[in-house]
Amino acid sequence: MDAKKLAIQNRMYQYSRAIYRSIKDLIDPYSPRETQLEYRRAVLAACEDTMERLARDPLYFAKPERALFQDIRRYFPIRAQAQVAWIVEEGVGAAVSFITEQIEAGAFDGGVPRCRATTRKGKPCQRTPLPERDYCPSHQHLADAAA
Ligand SMILES: [Zn+2]
Repeated sequence: MDAKKLAIQNRMYQYSRAIYRSIKDLIDPYSPRETQLEYRRAVLAACEDTMERLARDPLYFAKPERALFQDIRRYFPIRAQAQVAWIVEEGVGAAVSFITEQIEAGAFDGGVPRCRATTRKGKPCQRTPLPERDYCPSHQHLADAAA
């Protein structure tokens, strides 16, 4: 893995920890201690999964903040849910802005293969090409035309 990718992963890990730190104490304080520990581990794992998926596949992860909240809301009492939802939205939103900047800066070009076509807006197509091909399914006609 190259240094740029590693830097992105580290940064995503920090976003994940920041979200976890802000919500872990909102986990139901009246549950037995064992349950609380189990819930904390589950919440931490869900935060990390979300950030890993976002780092790996940012363009295909729709509404990551909603996905994360749905995954973890059951670990929090009703009265804490609005606060958890807000923290998750802010934290994931910050991570999404960061990833978007990285994509715009071209950090993702080296790793994941990208379709070689240019979109109507004049930007490089961000879709994944078909296996062994240079173009995504919607742009495959360009390869056929060239052949
Ligand atoms: Zn394409």
